[in-house]
Amino acid sequence: MALKTASEYLESLRRMKLNLFLLGEKVEDWVEHPIIRPSINSVAMTYKLAQKPETRELAITGSTLIKEPINRFNSLFQSAAELVLKVKLQREMGRRTGACFQRCVGMDAINAVFSVTFEMDRKHQTDYHQRFQDWLKYVQQNDLMVQGAMTDVKGDRGLSPSEQKDPDLFVHIVDRSNQGIVIRGAKASQTGAANSHEILVMPTLRLSEKEKEFALCCATPTDARGIHLVYGRQPNDTRKLEKADLDLGNLGFGGQETLTIFDNVFIPWERVFMDGETDFSSPLVERFASYHRQSYGGCKSGIGDVLIGAAASMADYNGVAKASHIRDKLAEMVHLVETIYSCGLACSYEGEKTAAGNFQCNILLANVCKLNVTRLPYELCRLAEDIAGGLLVTMPSEKDLRNPEVGRLVEKYLRGKAEVSTEARMRMLSLIHSMTMGTTAPSYRTESMHGAGSPQAQKIMIERLANLDARKKLARKIAGIDQREDVLE
Ligand code: SF4
Ligand code: FE
Repeated sequence: MALKTASEYLESLRRMKLNLFLLGEKVEDWVEHPIIRPSINSVAMTYKLAQKPETRELAITGSTLIKEPINRFNSLFQSAAELVLKVKLQREMGRRTGACFQRCVGMDAINAVFSVTFEMDRKHQTDYHQRFQDWLKYVQQNDLMVQGAMTDVKGDRGLSPSEQKDPDLFVHIVDRSNQGIVIRGAKASQTGAANSHEILVMPTLRLSEKEKEFALCCATPTDARGIHLVYGRQPNDTRKLEKADLDLGNLGFGGQETLTIFDNVFIPWERVFMDGETDFSSPLVERFASYHRQSYGGCKSGIGDVLIGAAASMADYNGVAKASHIRDKLAEMVHLVETIYSCGLACSYEGEKTAAGNFQCNILLANVCKLNVTRLPYELCRLAEDIAGGLLVTMPSEKDLRNPEVGRLVEKYLRGKAEVSTEARMRMLSLIHSMTMGTTAPSYRTESMHGAGSPQAQKIMIERLANLDARKKLARKIAGIDQREDVLE
């Protein structure tokens, strides 16, 4: 059976031997680590939804490769309808976790590499597509969590990979033999790396013909020799060490990013899916980025639903739910979230079949989706903070609430509406705090800005696909500069 339960996923992680560092120390029992565990729970939810009767249809699909039901996060999109289901699943996941659930990166990378390897083989008579399908079968059969690794650390942004003083600032091939290749370099901001079984490495930008050693796509187990994972900090992450769950806001879930260092990692040939084909670096980056920009239409709307619910609850708890400006702000929040979702749906419905047979979302609309996501979640956070009130950043801790001497007074003076407990009010404030400026905030603020590419990357794609000539022609015709369309013709 190709579907793992959430506990089997956790068990499978425990069998791995990660070389993982957090706060300056090597972490051995990382599955139980209080800072890491919430991020594992978020991924585990992708396994749980595949088991639950009410969500199975959303979370499971058929595999064209192994002829068995598989988790949608490991699937190749077979139609525009499946692209839509992907976004719906992500919204549901966002609603259940209120955080980044990390598994989308692998799903998006799988689909981009699938279509690009097919086209590479056609042009260069290589056999990458078959190798890739063999690896993907293994991933699907074992219901593995795949992490897509694209963002190189990049060094001097004004220089290309081959111009860097230190070539290791972009992951590249440093040695090759009959058995395979050896790679070196580092990828930054790697979502869910420490929670994954396999890493799918891709190039990060357009490459010139002379940059062959950087035109590299391959897969490796996350615990392969030479891989170092350095856990990224999040705002207020050490609150998770305090054993005071009220102060966490989001009790069970979180996101995760690592600096992933490939220090001479061996990759056997059967796991190499691009080796020097610089002409396919750009299409791979564009397709992966578009899929992931589509993904934001799902996850950011789902997480936004939680934030709206928290803001609306705070309005209730404070006794201001009927105030017209509060109702207006909540309606505005709904408008923003549904705009994000609409963009995710639109680029999915407009998806098209690739030469390899899977479906690619509409690239222009996916970029519009993500550009909106670089802006709208910030406004959503602003409105949630406005509704929540200043206590959001001045509230005492759970330990004060439980303190035998002062707790009774905190309880008395922090109460809002008489029928709502002070603890409930503090918990809701803490949730908004964690989503707008705490441990789960990265997935709703800065991650909305830079994840799946910074805004300028979307602007460049939008400009490239704008087709201004066709639009100018429309205007010239209507203005009568070109011949007008004769309506009676
Ligand atoms: Fe998925 Fe969103 Fe996290 Fe990307 S940011 S991995 S789309 S949940
Ligand atoms: Fe992301």
